[in-house]
Formats: sequence, C-alpha cells, structure tokens
Amino acid sequence: MALIVQKYGGTSVGSVARIKAVAERVAASYKKGNNIVVVVSAMAGETDRLINLAQEIANAPDEREMDLLLSSGERVSCALTAMAIQKLGHKSISLTGRQVGIITDSSHTKAMIERIDTKRLKNVLKEGKIPVVAGFQGIDEFSDVTTLGRGGSDTTAVAIAAALHADLCEIYTDVEGVYTTDPKIVKKARKLSKISYDEMLEMASLGAKVLHGRSVEFAKKYSVPLVVRSSFNDEPGTLVTKEDKHMEKTAVSGVAADKGQVRITIMGVPDRPGIAATLFNAIAGANIVVDMIVQNISSDTKATDISFTVAETDSKKALEITRKVSDKLGAKGVNMNRDVARVSIVGVGMVSHFGVAAKMFETLAKNKINIMMISTSEIKVSCVVDIKHTELAVKVLHDVFNLAKG
Ligand code: ADP
Ligand code: ASP
Ligand code: MG
Repeated sequence: MALIVQKYGGTSVGSVARIKAVAERVAASYKKGNNIVVVVSAMAGETDRLINLAQEIANAPDEREMDLLLSSGERVSCALTAMAIQKLGHKSISLTGRQVGIITDSSHTKAMIERIDTKRLKNVLKEGKIPVVAGFQGIDEFSDVTTLGRGGSDTTAVAIAAALHADLCEIYTDVEGVYTTDPKIVKKARKLSKISYDEMLEMASLGAKVLHGRSVEFAKKYSVPLVVRSSFNDEPGTLVTKEDKHMEKTAVSGVAADKGQVRITIMGVPDRPGIAATLFNAIAGANIVVDMIVQNISSDTKATDISFTVAETDSKKALEITRKVSDKLGAKGVNMNRDVARVSIVGVGMVSHFGVAAKMFETLAKNKINIMMISTSEIKVSCVVDIKHTELAVKVLHDVFNLAKG
C-alpha cells in the first residue's frame, strides 16, 4: 500500500463538475489500496477575484489581512472536495493549513513553511479517512494565517509529502506535464518524460508556473518523487527526479518567460563606493529579492544609473524604498517600467556548450527584439525584453534551439 499526495490546481477544481471528477479520481486511487492525502487550490479565478476586491478598498492592502482573505479560496474548495468524496461513499475530512499544523514564518503573502506537525494527518489516515488539505496556507507563531505566494499549493503538497515520507507526490494540472516551454504559447512544445530537480527549479523560478519554485526545492531536498500530470486524462506525466545519466544533455532543454517582473531605475546617483550597498541593503531589509542588476556609467562619469528587477508583487514596496534612498543620496530620480518580461533559456548541458548565449542574443536581434538586461549562470541565460515581445521571443528561441524535436 502506497501513500500518495495528490494536488489538484485551480482549473482542476474550477467548477462543481470538476470537483466531482477529482473526487472520482481520488476514489479510484484509494480503491486500489493506496492511502491518499489530497491538497487543493482555490477554484480557478478565485484568488484573483479576492485580490481585486482588496484592491478596490486599498491600493496597498495590509498583508496580514490579505493572507486571511486569500486563504478563504482554498477553504471553499477543500470543503467541497471532501463533500464530493464523501458522496462517493468514502470517509473524508477537510483540513485548513492551521488544522493540519503547517507552521510558517511571518512573511505575510510569501511565507516559508518551517515545519509540519504530522500527528493529525497520520491519525486521519489511520482512521481510513481521506484528508483534503487547503493548499497555499499555514499559520505563524502568533497563530496568524499566512499564505505561501501565488502558486503555493504545490509547495503545500510537496512539503506534506516530504513530512509524511510519501511514496509519490502527484501534481494534477491543466496540461499533461512539464513541456519544453509553456504549451499555451508554443503549440509545438514537447512534453518531457523526465526532468531533473535542478532544471525544474530553474524553469520554475524563471516563470514556468507549472510548479511553484519552493515546491521543487522541497522535492529536491527531501528526494520526493514528483509527477506532474493532467487531471483531465490518464496520460503519463513528467517525472521530476534526480539527474541520471540517461537524461538529455542538450545545451538548452527549455524556454521560460515571466511577465511578473518590473524594472526600477535610479538615475544620476553619485559614482562612489557604497551606493549599491546602501540601495540593495535597504531593499533586502524589506524581504524583497532583486533578480537582475545593471549599472551604467553615465558619459560625464560623475553619476551613474542603476537598474534592477523585482517581482511585480514587490514593486510598490521596492519603489517606495528606492525613492527614499534616491532622496538621501541626492539622485536625479527614480522610474519604474512595468512593461517588461524576462525570457530565459535553461539547460544543465549549457555549461559545456560554447556560444549558446550568443545564439540567443543573435536570434532576438534578428527578430528585432531589443534586450534591456542580461543575466547568466551555468544553467541559464535570461534577457529582459519589452513585454509585448514575450510570446515572439519564446517562439523563436524554442525554434532556434530545436526543442520541438528533442
Ligand atoms: P494549477 O492551477 O494547476 O496550479 P498553473 O496555472 O499554476 O496550474 O500551472 C499550469 C500552467 O503552467 C499551464 O497551464 C501552462 O500554461 C503553464 N506553463 C508554463 N510553462 C510551462 C511548462 N514549461 N510546461 C508546462 N506548463 C507550463
Ligand atoms: N490559489 C493560489 C493562487 O492562485 C495558490 C495556488 O493556486 O497554488 O496562486
Ligand atoms: Mg499552480
């Protein structure tokens, strides 16, 4: 008898009919003799709807209140799913993050799971019940509700799988697995039968939202066997696992895009030691992660411009901090460009293939796509481009690196 954690995303539980279909799938696995823990996202569109409600009240709503608000979406879907499983004649119980015992830090709206108390889940399983857990949420040391960031239900599922030493964690979604790029952008994208934790981690953190980045970190750290597959059919999905020698060693194995980035520029800062440290210490102090940084020496060499990118969700806070630093340093001003996207190529084989980055730049240039910023590592090259070029950039890069063929 295996212990399987099954996570169903927003589209998979997007209507009553879909919830009933999920219950059938859970029941089928259970009847095969498996122990099942179900984790659900909010019904499709619900988290966005709640965010919009808050925005109608406040431009920058209090983050503690946001977390209580957003956690309600997953409460609805988990209670409905438990009812649907019960209707099929099985014992099931819905549990919120608090009821499970998912303890996080206090960084509201992007909390990190610190530990999971498995006692309740183990008891529920022992009683032969199927627990249905509300994804994306936990509580902090003050018993305040926290959420794990957009897409965070994947992380709930993998963290529970790790804590329970589950045999398998299945992520059910609206595509058949992990593809060479977003199959909704590139029809020819190819489904991968396997991908290494490291490549998946990079793809996820660069915008392939099929898995939440933190979920892959957990999977890697605790060696959780992870499968991404469709809740709409029975096709085999993609196994996310340790790198093995049979895995493809092509230079580029995927293309990812992220429209949820903004670029902030602080202009005309004095060109002297310590300026970058002042700015980025202030930003790090607010728990904001900076992705790319570019500093341009201005022609008169007395002042420089510094540009950097942060996640859209951190943009208001980052802009406020940068303005304060700008005033303190006597800089010329600050501007923010929301119309940017980061397009990246990923591949563990990249390190041994000379000229991959050059080919990327050349391809973007041929298609008249201007590159605003560049960042590279051993297994990825990212470029910031105008948001209107995102889809084109993804398509031409997918083509030039022959990803459809494999
Ligand atoms: P869920 O609600 O099930 O969590 P998400 O919308 O969060 O689903 O993630 C699934 C989506 O991720 C797909 O519909 C697809 O558009 C997108 N996606 C982006 N990159 C990839 C990729 N490389 N492979 C598969 N899907 C991807
Ligand atoms: N409901 C949350 C979101 O839309 C979490 C998730 O779906 O994983 O981001
Ligand atoms: Mg998701």
